[in-house]
Amino acid sequence: MATLLQDRGYAEREAPGDADVVIVNTCGFLGAAREESIGALQELIDQRSPGQYIVAAGCLPALRDYSLDLPAGVDKILTTREWFKIGDAVGSLFGEAPQPQLAGCDGLTTTFTHQHTGPSAYVKIADGCDHACAFCTIPTIKGKQTSKRPLHVLQEIVDLVALGAKEVVLVSQDTIRYGSDIGMRNGIVDLIDMIGEQVPNLPWLRLLYIYPNPIVLKMIDAIARHEMAVNYIDMPLQHAHPAVLKRMLRPANLDLTRRILDHARSTLDDAVLRTTLITGFPGETDEEFESLLDFIEEQEFDHVGVFTYSPEPGTVAFDMADPVPIEIAEERRDAIMELQQSISLAHNQALEGMTLPVLVESIGEIEDEAGTTAPVSVGRAYRHAPEVDGLVFIDGEQPVGEFVNATVYAGTEYDLWAAAEPVSV
Ligand code: SF4
Repeated sequence: MATLLQDRGYAEREAPGDADVVIVNTCGFLGAAREESIGALQELIDQRSPGQYIVAAGCLPALRDYSLDLPAGVDKILTTREWFKIGDAVGSLFGEAPQPQLAGCDGLTTTFTHQHTGPSAYVKIADGCDHACAFCTIPTIKGKQTSKRPLHVLQEIVDLVALGAKEVVLVSQDTIRYGSDIGMRNGIVDLIDMIGEQVPNLPWLRLLYIYPNPIVLKMIDAIARHEMAVNYIDMPLQHAHPAVLKRMLRPANLDLTRRILDHARSTLDDAVLRTTLITGFPGETDEEFESLLDFIEEQEFDHVGVFTYSPEPGTVAFDMADPVPIEIAEERRDAIMELQQSISLAHNQALEGMTLPVLVESIGEIEDEAGTTAPVSVGRAYRHAPEVDGLVFIDGEQPVGEFVNATVYAGTEYDLWAAAEPVSV
């Protein structure tokens, strides 16, 4: 949206108060996210400067039942797959005629060169989801999966690398199912091979949101074939007790899940495994929760994200019996996090003395006990996905947007501390 507006002659402003138009890209996935989006809109409306317009874009307006909750005073609404109409939406506020250059775009399948400023970029390869997990609003918001054509994905990645991207992160709601709606059988496997062959100068390719199914085994083999594909598997499991998984309308075959995790460990050097889980799903018993804890202990994931169950109107789970009190869901979440912290700490401490390529993303400052400040570079190793995992802090100023080899001298629960020169530990 920013690129389309810039192409049309609009310029970005640092502070909302200085802008003629403020666009809020909302989220409608969970109640908490809806509240945050509505709160942001309301705050902007309350502080609106004279003549300023407010636009609500994104998922929230796509939830028809919720669009009534948008605060009065929003001047334009764009649903999630209408982002490409932002130029005309803003233009119409100033009486400009519509421009036809993106006519025919369905919000996903048209690609264009976008502006890019950081060393890491997300590339959305599909949108929507063909599953119907009992707790999830996404199929309602997004509809069925629509995959971007492989050539469009490739073009986007070529453009991003030309603009300086060192890491491309492929995302969608169900990345493993990529291409199934456009006649590809093992689409994600083919896509990894195509990127590996056609964009050899991409340093890091990362995939997020892998739904557990047998294609993951082939995807792991494809990752092993291409050095650029980082040895990182993000497979949200949500739970690990078959009865809960069945109630969630999720794959309940834990043998397959274990096979996939074992295959990743045996096929990929120093495989890094991430999952996300939900506690407090309706009917979750103490025994079911204990078996989830046992699974976490058994599998020793490198990264685990845990969310308490959030009842969402319109989902199958919303009306389920035996709701779990939020305090219990939170206690269970904290118990998983506590267990995981000890696992992550051990994994990170095992890295002490090892040298890893780190993509430097920013420079910060650190203060010692005496109050003296020193520069510190902040980056990520292949082990860390942007925004969700830990960071690598490297002493001193390193070149932003470049890789440096850094030797880890301390591992904590989430982050690594490293020096750009080899150090003895
Ligand atoms: S696979 Fe993911 S996006 Fe699709 S319904 Fe399940 S949780 Fe939602």
